[in-house]
Amino acid sequence: MEAVVTSVRRCRRLMIAAGACASRVGMKECSAYCGGFRSLGSFSGWGSPMVGRAHAAVSIARQLQRALAPCDFLGARLCRSASSFSAFHDRIHPPGLAACGWISNQSGGRTAGAPVGANQSRKMSGGKNPFSKLVTDLAGSKSKYYSLVKFGDKRIDTLPYSIRILLESAIRNCDDFQVLKADVEKIVDWEKTSPKQVEIPFKPARVILQDFTGVPCVVDLAAMRDAITRLGGDPNKINPLVPVDLVIDHSVQVDVARSANALQSNMELEFSRNKERFAFLKWGSTAFKNMLVVPPGSGIVHQVNLEYLGRVVFNSGGFLYPDSLVGTDSHTTMIDGLGVAGWGVGGIEAEAVMLGQPMSMVLPLVVGFKLTGKMKTGVTATDLVLTVTQMLRKHGVVGKFVEFYGKGMAELSLADRATIANMAPEYGATMGFFPVDKVTLDYLTLTGRDANKVKEIEGYLRANNMFIDHSKPVPDNKYSSNLELNLDTVEPCMSGPKRPHDRVTIREMKKDWHDCLNNKVGFKGFAIPKDKQGKVAKFTFEGKPAEMRHGSVVIAAITSCTNTSNPSVMLGAGLVAKKASDLGLEVKPWVKTSLAPGSGVVTLYLAKSGLTKYMDQQGFSVVGYGCTTCIGNSGELHEDVSKAITDNDIVAAAVLSGNRNFEGRVHPLTRANYLASPPLVVAYALAGTVDIDFAKEPVGKGKGGKDVFLKDIWPSSDEIAKVVQTSVLPDMFRSTYQAITKGNKMWNSLAAPSGSQYAWDPKSTYVHEPPFFQDMPKNPPGGKPVKDAYCLLNFGDSITTDHISPAGNINKDSPAAKFLMDRGVQRKDFNSYGSRRGNDEIMARGTFANIRIVNKFLEGEVGPKTIHVPSKEKLFIFDAAKKYKDAGQDTIILAGAEYGSGSSRDWAAKGPYLQGVKAVISKSFERIHRSNLVGMGLIPLCFKQGEDADSLGLTGFEKYTIEMPTDMKQIKPGMDVNVKTDNGKSFKCTLRFDTQVELTYYQHGGILHYVLRQLAAK
Ligand code: SF4
Repeated sequence: MEAVVTSVRRCRRLMIAAGACASRVGMKECSAYCGGFRSLGSFSGWGSPMVGRAHAAVSIARQLQRALAPCDFLGARLCRSASSFSAFHDRIHPPGLAACGWISNQSGGRTAGAPVGANQSRKMSGGKNPFSKLVTDLAGSKSKYYSLVKFGDKRIDTLPYSIRILLESAIRNCDDFQVLKADVEKIVDWEKTSPKQVEIPFKPARVILQDFTGVPCVVDLAAMRDAITRLGGDPNKINPLVPVDLVIDHSVQVDVARSANALQSNMELEFSRNKERFAFLKWGSTAFKNMLVVPPGSGIVHQVNLEYLGRVVFNSGGFLYPDSLVGTDSHTTMIDGLGVAGWGVGGIEAEAVMLGQPMSMVLPLVVGFKLTGKMKTGVTATDLVLTVTQMLRKHGVVGKFVEFYGKGMAELSLADRATIANMAPEYGATMGFFPVDKVTLDYLTLTGRDANKVKEIEGYLRANNMFIDHSKPVPDNKYSSNLELNLDTVEPCMSGPKRPHDRVTIREMKKDWHDCLNNKVGFKGFAIPKDKQGKVAKFTFEGKPAEMRHGSVVIAAITSCTNTSNPSVMLGAGLVAKKASDLGLEVKPWVKTSLAPGSGVVTLYLAKSGLTKYMDQQGFSVVGYGCTTCIGNSGELHEDVSKAITDNDIVAAAVLSGNRNFEGRVHPLTRANYLASPPLVVAYALAGTVDIDFAKEPVGKGKGGKDVFLKDIWPSSDEIAKVVQTSVLPDMFRSTYQAITKGNKMWNSLAAPSGSQYAWDPKSTYVHEPPFFQDMPKNPPGGKPVKDAYCLLNFGDSITTDHISPAGNINKDSPAAKFLMDRGVQRKDFNSYGSRRGNDEIMARGTFANIRIVNKFLEGEVGPKTIHVPSKEKLFIFDAAKKYKDAGQDTIILAGAEYGSGSSRDWAAKGPYLQGVKAVISKSFERIHRSNLVGMGLIPLCFKQGEDADSLGLTGFEKYTIEMPTDMKQIKPGMDVNVKTDNGKSFKCTLRFDTQVELTYYQHGGILHYVLRQLAAK
């Protein structure tokens, strides 16, 4: 029984966390990948839009044989024993051939076998790349690339580096179907087009997933295999078309801490709670080609990405192009520190990219962030990122790229850059990008990447004007707006007590804390009456007297990929622990301390430096390799501590090296939560309180009752640098990542199904075959009329994806709860919607189940109910939808402005589809949600300017007929369509299929159906 959350309280916490960090995975034997590349059939499937013809496939096969020959049948053994793990890397992921224009050009052009069915009326695929003349040989190498220099347009010379990556992708993938020449021109003309919010297609080179949000993606792939079989095709053709890496990291929690067996115990609990999901992912790891699953206990997705998966430049069969990715976790942005463009997206976008489709994005504005100077000794990357976050929040960067540059950038280590890039969601940017420079190349070498590969990366990026050489004048790139920070001015700080951008310097911390106690309840206030602020709560901890005050630290966690990927701060924490131990300081036993590294490399360098024993002495023993406290998996506090907090209404504090601290995320009993660097986490754990002025007050009493101050235990930058230099070695990265290819004992002994099709367990309430492809016809169904549809929901403005998507705990009276109870699941085992994302039955019932949803039908009543129009009954929304479906009646949704804004996206379009909704008519749509609706085959319509349901006198009780042509030839993107009601009203709407590609998806019943038919036709 999976029970990540075992109580209502815990459910809530987990969901807050899961919602805030939308994004997880495992390990796949490299033989399977290699096998994938050997399989010509599946390979031609990958490149389906490009490599459909037999002679093209033969040509590709030959090239692949040449490129991949070393990784043949002995792939597994070769890979495991490879001395060069970056060679292994490229062998398991020869990426993006689907996107490889050169290959398609050489092999006779991109074709895409015509999808099944002769009744197609529109262009279904692309043609020859019109930019093939830009293909150039890389000097001193046999590789080729699309040259931006050869493009010969001066405007490119001043484009931000991040935009050049989008441009290169558009040029390489241009087929005048999915990517148009006009899209390339839009990007070249970025300075003028970006303020206009124009949309462009983007085909990232790969996808990264974590286990929470990755499960539904794998479920859909498994369902597609069944569907292609029903269509008479080969299930083995269904594989991700671009490399997909799934890291299982979000499930481990800190049940046991401050103990030598904490790691083992927590892992055992993790496996027992998540057995069903893990077994499913393990099946996926062997069934799918082109998918790497990194098992639980290996590390955190973004750190693994940085240290191992990040390619920087792909070499696919001798063709070079920049690495880029999307991930189903918001902190996917961490990889931007390595010069790889990547950010978090919802499940449907990720699945689309996985299946070789472009994603639509607004060509972003770019904020140029100039860095000058050098950080002072004692200041950490965490201090810097909290400062940067505050600046960028103030500047306003939502929906924009931030690009760092300047001489100060050269002073930042790669790990420092990754820390800054990681927190892009906190400062609100799509990504915080550091272009590649020498520091990047040095990091690639440090982390064990092959020397020849590093040389090739440098050669390609220099040749294509994508490399920063700090010895040359700062490039004259144009930015949409500018910011500047002198690193010299950054001070040690933390952020809190409730938001990541509420930065407070350590110098001002004591005063700020007292202000917070006084302030009225809010982001910076707890409203504790003056006479209660000095309260001392005496309690007994494991039989010994203890006491607690407002500000007492009860959780001190070194957690989060934000920091655990940075050796300077991790070893800095170790040095603080050592100095404290040497001087006789000890962390109080009731503080829940923990260390959750983002990869095994951290353990190795802490051991090599000799600092592990001091970390252990101060309670910072390893509790697991995963997200833990960062995602709210903090585990319970000791009952004595919990009781002392609740009995005395103490404002207890957590100090963690995470990136989010919203109330309720870290632990329900820690009302104050501060983000801080790992060394400060140790320091505050030692002090036992955040109510301290480190400049004037001692951290504690050491040997002989002597006061010990922070300055006595704080290492200098030189000290840290010396330990980093001697303790962090390339071999550690090589051995760690060679080891994860072998799994671990628990993973390897986990029973999992085998075979190319998943044996669905009808009794499972976690993993279920979704109905998306059941009864799917061989031929695209084309336009389907919506006739006499009932209005399921009648919304006003600002319905967000948080209202639509299932999230949080499962209410005991809800349709989902009833479904679970009918199957014998007890209330205590309901778990959260998040953990049941792999079961469409639960997710369909959880769609629109938000208790704060406002539906005009209910005339002021708030909650997840609606009126079933024919019977006038008030029902749960799912129950009403089911009644319509059972009666064979179509439904639509009426909505106001900005329908579908928000970031909780993975089920926001699938859920309404499952409930039988055929169309949404709104005043306006959030951009990505609209495209997700199209991806699920729903019709998005917008009222005409100045009109809405109210102005048209629509009550929702009418029946609606959408007069759209059924002949696809007559449907045009953006055309007007007439909508009629059964009470004689008639009004025009704009059809929001915005491109030919979207019309094609509609014709097929959705993006997944489109891809499925393409593959079935091969
Ligand atoms: S450690 Fe935190 S930021 Fe990193 S992936 Fe996990 S939850 Fe997200």
